[in-house]
Amino acid sequence: MQSKNKKAPTSSERIHIARIKGMDCVVCGASGPSECHEINQGQWFTSMPLCADCHRGSLNGIHGQKRMWAVQKLDELSALNKTLNLLFDGN
Ligand SMILES: [Zn+2]
Ligand SMILES: [Zn+2]
Repeated sequence: MQSKNKKAPTSSERIHIARIKGMDCVVCGASGPSECHEINQGQWFTSMPLCADCHRGSLNGIHGQKRMWAVQKLDELSALNKTLNLLFDGN
């Protein structure tokens, strides 16, 4: 979701966004590059990697009916926790 008056990310935020986008989808595991989803608009350090379907899919996506999220028993905070786990401990 883009909004017009969204603040441009700082350089450290840009580095974080690039790392997030390079990861696999944290919900279904689809291989990256992924899209970067922010829990709160413009708060990049609490963003997570999602495939297009888990992100914007009308049925599966977090911006849709969240079916895949329900199947995987994830909410945004659990997905963020999983993201940070992978980021700090993962491959
Ligand atoms: Zn996915
Ligand atoms: Zn999003």
